[in-house]
Amino acid sequence: PAPPHVIDGKAFAAALRQRIADAVPAFAEAAGRAPGLAVVLVGDDPASAVYVASKGKATRAAGMESFEHRLPADATQAEVEALLAQLNADEAVDGILLQLPLPGHLDEQAAVATIDPDKDVDGLTPVSAGRLALGIPGMVPCTPYGCLLLLQDRLGDLSGKDAVVIGRSILVGKPMAALLLGANCTVTMAHSRTTDLPERVRRADIVVAAVGRPEMVKGEWIKPGAVVIDVGINRLPPAEGAAKGRLVGDVAYDEAAAVAAAITPVPGGVGPMTIACLLRNTLVAAHRRAGLADPE
Ligand code: NDP
Repeated sequence: PAPPHVIDGKAFAAALRQRIADAVPAFAEAAGRAPGLAVVLVGDDPASAVYVASKGKATRAAGMESFEHRLPADATQAEVEALLAQLNADEAVDGILLQLPLPGHLDEQAAVATIDPDKDVDGLTPVSAGRLALGIPGMVPCTPYGCLLLLQDRLGDLSGKDAVVIGRSILVGKPMAALLLGANCTVTMAHSRTTDLPERVRRADIVVAAVGRPEMVKGEWIKPGAVVIDVGINRLPPAEGAAKGRLVGDVAYDEAAAVAAAITPVPGGVGPMTIACLLRNTLVAAHRRAGLADPE
């Protein structure tokens, strides 16, 4: 087993997936159908195809219905939006995930914005972002939601904690900061123009790194006893004779682990939480659409 200060996201995600699977029969009983997640893949990007396949597998493993839709790489904007409209109207579909990135000739933001916000399990529509900002119940992007669950599991109430989020992407940094603010942290959002980043990180009880730069956050930046969540997934160049380089996060793990009270490893930390939270969002969307109270 991992040492106690290593946050085992893999085990946490497995337990969450089990709780979701356990809640599916009661939903099916009440609604007369299983929750359904539709995943749309446009084109044949191999990495996206792998993600879509693993999402489908996890969906079925949780006892939910998985609908997989593929459009050719030369699909038009109108064809993509027509498929999304059809899924919006489909009663059996509770969650819609448009796998990004789309081929370059398509307008991603415009396509995402056509998804019914109540089915927006990726939390990427403008309405979902607005609900999150306003503190109205809605769909929260999966990766930051997973980070919040790991933090709450480790720390309990986050009220009054000083948190630094490094990175301000729509997918991770911005919603992460909104979630931490909603949990009553005092939040600093850092990005590429931030000055004195090490000093700002040194004050933080909670550090979330979502940058995409291998081992950028150094151990000496971390306040002793802080909790460090490393969202970054970076592949280093392969060593002499090796086929593939090692995966590392945005945090210099060994250095940071020596000072932090708790830290997520890469891989095996935040990564596994994303699909678990996608299933959770689908289950929640299904309950809300059926007029049922949110599941535990
Ligand atoms: P983006 O590239 O969209 O955003 C990166 C952010 O980092 C930007 O806001 C950028 O600032 C900021 N940044 C860049 N350089 C610096 C710097 N030197 N100092 C401070 N901030 C900096 O990345 P994502 O948010 O999509 O992803 C971040 C990482 O998380 C990636 O490694 C990605 O692979 C990983 N990831 C992992 C997931 C998972 O575990 N399931 C899911 C999603 C992402 P600015 O805005 O000023 O340009």
